Amino acid sequence: MHLKRRTMLGGMAAAAAFLSAPVALGQSRPRVVVIGGGSGGATAARYIARDSDGAIDVTLVEPTRSYYTCYFSNLYLGGFWELADLGHSYGTLAARHGINVVHDWAVAVDRDAKTVALAGGGVLPYDRLVLSPGIDFVEDSVPGWSIAAQNRMPHAYKAGSQTELLKAQVDNMRAGGTFAMVAPPNPYRCPPGPYERISMVAHILKERNPTAKILIIDPKETYSKQSLFEDGWGRHYPGMIERIGPEFGADNISVNPDAMEVDIDGTIEQVDVCNVIPAQKAGRIAELAGLTADSGWAPVVPANMKSRMDDNVYVLGDASAQGDMPKSGFSANSQAKVAANSIRHELTDSRLFPARYSNTCWSLIGTDDGVKVGANYEPTEEKIASVEGFISQVGEDAELRRQTYEESIGWYNGIIADMFT
Ligand SMILES: Cc1cc2nc3c(=O)[nH]c(=O)nc-3n(C[C@H](O)[C@H](O)[C@H](O)COP(=O)(O)OP(=O)(O)OC[C@H]3O[C@@H](n4cnc5c(N)ncnc54)[C@H](O)[C@@H]3O)c2cc1C
Repeated sequence: MHLKRRTMLGGMAAAAAFLSAPVALGQSRPRVVVIGGGSGGATAARYIARDSDGAIDVTLVEPTRSYYTCYFSNLYLGGFWELADLGHSYGTLAARHGINVVHDWAVAVDRDAKTVALAGGGVLPYDRLVLSPGIDFVEDSVPGWSIAAQNRMPHAYKAGSQTELLKAQVDNMRAGGTFAMVAPPNPYRCPPGPYERISMVAHILKERNPTAKILIIDPKETYSKQSLFEDGWGRHYPGMIERIGPEFGADNISVNPDAMEVDIDGTIEQVDVCNVIPAQKAGRIAELAGLTADSGWAPVVPANMKSRMDDNVYVLGDASAQGDMPKSGFSANSQAKVAANSIRHELTDSRLFPARYSNTCWSLIGTDDGVKVGANYEPTEEKIASVEGFISQVGEDAELRRQTYEESIGWYNGIIADMFT
């Protein structure tokens, strides 16, 4: 009796598995390759593997063994977090979810053959491909700067050794020296990121080097959460920060890394630390795969994050041109869940849910002084469109600001669990 019951249950489970996986008997499991193990890629790989219960073969290609988050890297610059707090490894994705994690670079995509070539010589076939390679920099967007100069003038816009280098430069800057930031033009990863960085650099300099100066050279007329940052800088760091906008020539600059000079519309500024954040475009593999437009970003279908160039390919996160969502870890994570649902639906006939997207970007201006901006989004034919938003207000009380900062830590722990556990 007992045996019979067990047999029956086994039979039902097998039938259910067969129904949910419309792959002919004897054929291998459908294969998904994910390029890039960051906010978009790690989330997508984890959700596809976890929710398909082994019905889909998932391979994640990522060159680094530890992913260092850009989010909260500014807090490391400000002395609030340690570098080790930002690093996360891929072991659990492999051990718990059966994801085949390959530490290598994807160097080419053959979209006709549906294969990905790896720098190490391997070739990975796929039924669906997910690209979430983040950003690369537009060559010559800051004349005089190139990747060869990134140790003299770090960008610290991909986290890890660059962030560590910038922190060491700030911490060791001469007394009364000048920290300069060349801010990027739109669109770029994390709109409030440069200005949170300014806040955190000011925080550490106020403690260690109070006569130092901070210069922002910014080609944009306006920037994210501007009134909140300006109010906060006035309260926490009076007289320390100066911003030069395009009206004073900040859209006509060049740098000389050897001489540590910035030429702003013909006026030479001698600086001690120079954080150059160049103009950005989709991570190079998206371009090599022929998935980017003239803008440098990869257009996607708003309802599911599929590339507009290829029905078998999805592009997530910063690399995608999707509409109103800012390029953020929160956005990439939100987009990855929509794409994972669509891929499982296509490959295993699982239920398809309507796409819903959301984002919040928190920034820390000073100790316990957190602010945020965010919105919900819905797909239209043309783009992912913002439907309702919110933003912190100037003049909020200290307790609300402290709670906003606490909320950001909760978000950090949540997204890391969503990507790596
Ligand atoms: C200073 C700073 C602060 C930020 N703060 C926040 C914040 O508070 N909140 C927030 O939501 N966002 C924040 N962001 C933005 C956030 O980091 C990015 O928007 C997010 O990481 C984008 O996710 P992604 O998957 O597109 O790219 P990434 O997370 O960068 O992942 C891309 C991955 O692809 C890999 N890769 C690239 N090319 C290849 C290849 N050819 N083959 C294999 N792998 C490849 C890379 O190694 C990388 O691991 C911040 C960014 C910065 C710079």
